[in-house]
Amino acid sequence: MENKLMLMIPGPTPVPEAALLALAKHPIGHRTGEFSSMMGEVTENLKWLHQTTNDVLMLNVSGTGAVEAGIINFLSPGDRILVGNNGKFGERWVEVGEAFGLNVEVVTAEWGKPLDPSKFGEILAADSKKEIKAVVITHSETSTGVINDLAAINSHVKAHGEALIIVDAVTSLGAYNVAVDELGLDIVASGSQKGYMIPPGLGFVSVSAKAWEAYKTAKLPKFYLDLGKYRKSTAKNTTPFTPPVNLIVALHTTLGMMKREGLESIFARHERQKNATRAAMKALNLPLFAPDEWASPAITAVSVPGMEADKIRSLMKKRFDIALAGGQDHLTNKIFRIGHLGFVSDRDILSCVSALEVVLGELGYENFIPGAGVAAAVKVFTTI
Ligand SMILES: *Cc1c(COP(=O)(O)O)cnc(C)c1O
Repeated sequence: MENKLMLMIPGPTPVPEAALLALAKHPIGHRTGEFSSMMGEVTENLKWLHQTTNDVLMLNVSGTGAVEAGIINFLSPGDRILVGNNGKFGERWVEVGEAFGLNVEVVTAEWGKPLDPSKFGEILAADSKKEIKAVVITHSETSTGVINDLAAINSHVKAHGEALIIVDAVTSLGAYNVAVDELGLDIVASGSQKGYMIPPGLGFVSVSAKAWEAYKTAKLPKFYLDLGKYRKSTAKNTTPFTPPVNLIVALHTTLGMMKREGLESIFARHERQKNATRAAMKALNLPLFAPDEWASPAITAVSVPGMEADKIRSLMKKRFDIALAGGQDHLTNKIFRIGHLGFVSDRDILSCVSALEVVLGELGYENFIPGAGVAAAVKVFTTI
């Protein structure tokens, strides 16, 4: 059947019809009053979503560009930084730091395990000369479905006093409580195709006053991603360069939807869907890749012993038009990942789990009682 695709991947995520319709409109000029008033509302709502009074800046980049901007605007060549690496994205921030000639020290954990906050504590406590200028953390590590203990790592950064905390919140913002001001997060980066419920193309960076102090002396080269330019423009409800105006109109729509749903409800919905998905996978006797205590609310990674994950994915696509994500690097064909981020309802989880049961059966997997996964999800969703 045509036009029935269901995206259950961790980005791009599904887009609500109101946002699709907004995207279909004629572009408007970005130096007009109409655009400025929209930009003003979008900026206010971005601050609401980030729970901050800090600047929240919008760039024409994917999530990687937002994190890169968050790194290069506040550091100088040779600066020592600590980067957490327990998956594909953590690995990427190590590469970005190295590409820009930073002195990168890496704190690793095995893929599928959370970073150990005490390792950050030890290294930061030993840095009496305050040489460490930044700590870079991937909050929700999308490649493995692990959420890292941002609050604990951040408390070590705060005890250090000098280093900035730079957070890749690409799959946690809009799914999990990322309280920017309460935690004192200096730089928080995210991307439009994840929790924001619009297509790819916009990146967001929130910047604290402390980070702006570091900006004044930071010497890494920058031009298009110079956040100072965006700060000046945003204060005047405009943008330094031509923005993807249609995406911003769509964002205006989805931020309105998010405000009506409310942060608490949004976080509770992601938590509930994570719990239902995990309960279903356990009932199907499929091992979960991330531990219960450190499972991302946005994405569930599932191991498939004795089976090929990519066969499951391609049959899910062919039979049910449901797109699941695969494993990356050494996890290729070993895991599949179910995205439950953004515009995803409980109904989508039930559809996905029941379709998966059909697919597992058709592939000859016998280690489950048909209906067991759905029953487990139903139990999570049944509130009385
Ligand atoms: C999607 C994602 C990004 C950004 O990836 P892009 O392809 O550049 O948008 C960064 N970090 C995490 C954790 C992600 O899930």
